[in-house]
Amino acid sequence: MQKKRNTRPVKVGRLIIGGGHPVVVQSMTNTDTRNIDATLNQIHDLAAVGCELIRVAVPDQAAADALREIVKRSPLPVTADIHFDYRLALAAIEAGVAKLRINPGNIGGTDRVKMILRAAQENQIALRVGVNAGSVHRSYLEKSGGDVVQAMLLSAEDQLNILTEEGFDQIVVSLKSSDVLQTVQVCTEFSTKWDFPLHLGVTEAGTRWRGTIRSAVGLGILLAQGIGDTLRVSLTGDPRNEVTAAYEILKALHLRERGPVVISCPTCGRCQIGLEKLAEAVEALTGALPYPLHIAVMGCVVNGPGEASRADLGLAGGKGEGIIFREGKIIRKETENNLLPAFEEELVKLIKEKYGTEVLL
Ligand code: SF4
Repeated sequence: MQKKRNTRPVKVGRLIIGGGHPVVVQSMTNTDTRNIDATLNQIHDLAAVGCELIRVAVPDQAAADALREIVKRSPLPVTADIHFDYRLALAAIEAGVAKLRINPGNIGGTDRVKMILRAAQENQIALRVGVNAGSVHRSYLEKSGGDVVQAMLLSAEDQLNILTEEGFDQIVVSLKSSDVLQTVQVCTEFSTKWDFPLHLGVTEAGTRWRGTIRSAVGLGILLAQGIGDTLRVSLTGDPRNEVTAAYEILKALHLRERGPVVISCPTCGRCQIGLEKLAEAVEALTGALPYPLHIAVMGCVVNGPGEASRADLGLAGGKGEGIIFREGKIIRKETENNLLPAFEEELVKLIKEKYGTEVLL
């Protein structure tokens, strides 16, 4: 792991992105923004799994009108995602968003960009500017001789020049590609030249399984190099999966803690229990807990507790029975059917002892 790169701090509502602060986990609603209740319900669901910053699409005036109420009732700072129409950007600022995601190149000319910047400055709103490999303008590709990464960097540089010439520096930058290595390369090169905080993401990463793997590889490489100040794992489907995936990536790199880490063995010829189901049940049981516990679900009583000796609590299956262990020591033996309820009991006890909290699982 390399030390986190130095970036300038950008204030987004009550959050700070960059400046050595913890990597901020964000997501985007996929409800119709004009449906205020549906959007707020989703924001609450996302906050419950640890999302810290929420982005909503603002495609038209009706969506911009809904923003005021959404911002007022949202438990999270809101970013408005706007393309083409500077009036929507001004309306979003007026509605009280904490951040705007715009593309200064498609907002209708320098005067309009300046109007947005002035309003953002007056209201202390941060901006995110971004380049996506798929939509980088042809002129940059011509300049870079067809090199997509260099074209993205040229485009980002132009956008940043427009903003910084006006003295604006509350900027977060994103450089995304659906190609994992391209994302890694462009973010790495950018971070050697600029100190604006980076929003990481592999764009259009895919469905939950593939998208999580692709994001974990790309974002993992960057984060391990100390690059990245906020991230979104873009996945098709329920955005709560984006947040849980983001924390698994950050937890694996010891960058953030949230909830338990559940490990389970891959099983081998010694396993005589339905471990996959058991591991899934333990994951479901512990998924919403906020405590950074280390939990192990192991296939056999012979090697399980030893292999998982670092676990706060674990269970291991045997033939028709299983054991529960705490920090490598066996504390209970149970029949296979009773293993999960007994584990639950021990977990409640452990949380009470360790954190002084009564939990209902
Ligand atoms: S814990 Fe037991 S069943 Fe699981 S992989 Fe190790 S030896 Fe095999």
